[in-house]
Amino acid sequence: MSEPPPGSRVPFFDLTAQHAALRDELLAAMARVLDSSRFILGDEVEACERDVARAVGVAHAVGVSSGTDALLASLMALGVGPGDEVITTPLSFIATASAIARLGARPVFVDVEPDTLCLDPASARAAIGPATRAIVPVHLFGRCAALDAYLDAGVSIVEDAAQALGASLDGARAGSRGELGCFSFFPTKNVGALGDAGMVTTDDPELARKVRELRSQGQRERHHAARLGGNFRLDALQAAALRVKLPHLARWNDARRAHARAYRAHLDRAGIVTSLEAAGRGQGLALPDEGRGEHVFHQFVVRTSLRDELRAALSARGIGTEIYYPLPLHLHGAFASLGHRVGEFPNAEAAAREVLALPIYPELPGEALARVSDAVVEFFERR
Ligand SMILES: *Cc1c(COP(=O)(O)O)cnc(C)c1O
Repeated sequence: MSEPPPGSRVPFFDLTAQHAALRDELLAAMARVLDSSRFILGDEVEACERDVARAVGVAHAVGVSSGTDALLASLMALGVGPGDEVITTPLSFIATASAIARLGARPVFVDVEPDTLCLDPASARAAIGPATRAIVPVHLFGRCAALDAYLDAGVSIVEDAAQALGASLDGARAGSRGELGCFSFFPTKNVGALGDAGMVTTDDPELARKVRELRSQGQRERHHAARLGGNFRLDALQAAALRVKLPHLARWNDARRAHARAYRAHLDRAGIVTSLEAAGRGQGLALPDEGRGEHVFHQFVVRTSLRDELRAALSARGIGTEIYYPLPLHLHGAFASLGHRVGEFPNAEAAAREVLALPIYPELPGEALARVSDAVVEFFERR
């Protein structure tokens, strides 16, 4: 097969256009930090924290080194440790469950809903037992997981909102309903730093204070550790870059939503869009459920049991795709001691076999999106 011409390639993700547009502002922000010689915490981080608190609609935001450390520091602030159980989803990035396990607590996986792929709220509520200390739902792909079923259950909720900055459900923003919300500014997230960065959000001043202590070695005063912490601090350079990008959040999320609508229109036209059940039998393609609330389409994830064939066909056309996630968390070697087996979480396992994320980012050109859609349609029409 001949190579696709370079101009027709569609990368899965591309920051070039975003950074070209913001280049001068980003360089000015870097220069400001360089000239201040203040690289750890300080004014830039505090200003960034205020911006994120406002965007999420909470009283406090605490800048940390990554989304992973946001989860770890949040669970530490709640005192999660050995003997505790923490309920979470098997369909997420490794960090969601590893933050629990690293503290000596037991991740208790509960299957996802087949359509939203978020933690099934009724099953999560039913799984609460005497040792349950917290629930960590994940707002997967930019859609808010429903929390109502267990909001009043008397266990702490730590929202993994790494993929959902700006998303909302029933008028509440991701990261604003649980006791703590965890965000990542990994460069590919809806707002990305120029490296690793994260944020913890909360309305509880006491929890905010604890997370601030935890990110600086548990120190309440200098050289006095009130509790065991770590170095989970956000750098001033990253905070300054984030302050350049955060004002664009709403516009970028709107662009992602518009792309999702465009995919839907392009793909639906050809009559290949079917139900989840049919797509699972190799008959057509299931599109992501938009459900209620404001989805911010961190990913646009379609489903088909022909996923690997479709992915290869798109790759041959120079179109990048990704699989989130090819292996559910309960089947990772790192969690082997939990003793789980294939078949225990059928909805998450079916998703792992069928999901394919298509290119979506705010600057994705309309003609590139049309080319991806045409290639998908052609794949199904040829069968
Ligand atoms: C990205 C991500 C994380 C981890 O964030 P990092 O900043 O990469 O540490 C955690 N959970 C989910 C769901 C994520 O997508």
